[in-house]
Amino acid sequence: MSKRFEIIMSPHSGYCFGVKRAMRLLMRGVAKYGGENIYTLGEIIHNPQAVEKIKNMGVRGAKSLLDIGEGDNVVIRAHGVHPDILNTAHRRKINVIDTTCPFVKSSQEYVQSLYAQGRSVIIIGDAEHPEVIGIAGHVPSNAIIIKSVKDAEALQNLRKAGVITQTTFSSEKSNSIIEVLKNYIQDIKVYDTICQATVERRKTTMDVAKRVDMMLVVGGKGSSNTKRLHAMCLDNGIMSRHIEVADEIDVGWFEGINNIGLTTGTSTPDWVIEDVKKRLYELAASV
Ligand code: SF4
Repeated sequence: MSKRFEIIMSPHSGYCFGVKRAMRLLMRGVAKYGGENIYTLGEIIHNPQAVEKIKNMGVRGAKSLLDIGEGDNVVIRAHGVHPDILNTAHRRKINVIDTTCPFVKSSQEYVQSLYAQGRSVIIIGDAEHPEVIGIAGHVPSNAIIIKSVKDAEALQNLRKAGVITQTTFSSEKSNSIIEVLKNYIQDIKVYDTICQATVERRKTTMDVAKRVDMMLVVGGKGSSNTKRLHAMCLDNGIMSRHIEVADEIDVGWFEGINNIGLTTGTSTPDWVIEDVKKRLYELAASV
């Protein structure tokens, strides 16, 4: 047996704090109410393997509260939701298992407080992202959602504003946008709401990526933070492959490769990572 390549694992991998907490609360709900009496509003996390596992416990996905009956349980995922959804669940006597990440909850509270101070509320983020939709819902008037310097330049008429950023947004991009806003808006209050879990993960991924011939990024194909890790590697000229499960690994990828780096999105389960590692170690040890 000879070693064909070395595997370097990024120190931050697997579920982030918020996802870990959400899964724990869901499991507690399953133990208490039975999986068949629980619905998730949308997929609890952006990982098909984890979603499948939850489905096997009897938990069903609902598109809206209309799919859920009185006395049943709804899981609010870590992204949080518009307060109307919580109010409707309450009115319809649907029990809420609220797994909103405490960091997202802080953003929801910040926008309420900024609004109460008479400020226009600016959210830097993706208007389609469920977290942003939920946070914007906590502003009684319309929040202004922007995601580029160009969008910020269109806000020259604002006098008094407050700014928060989507927790998983790029900090570099957010800083450039905030710089522009500060030039135009006289009275501006900015809350730094970018989640350090994703900042750290990007940093350590980049540290590993610089030392290897190829990066393997493991996570749901629909997981935006996983896709961003993969894109970051590619943007920095590093060969990178995004896989969801070990079965996607192709032995041909490792031709001429001396070392590979392994990183994961914040919603990648440990057992998926272990499968990938096992497959890699088998390949690394094969002649
Ligand atoms: S990435 Fe950060 S904000 Fe999002 S769920 Fe994880 S810990 Fe919470």
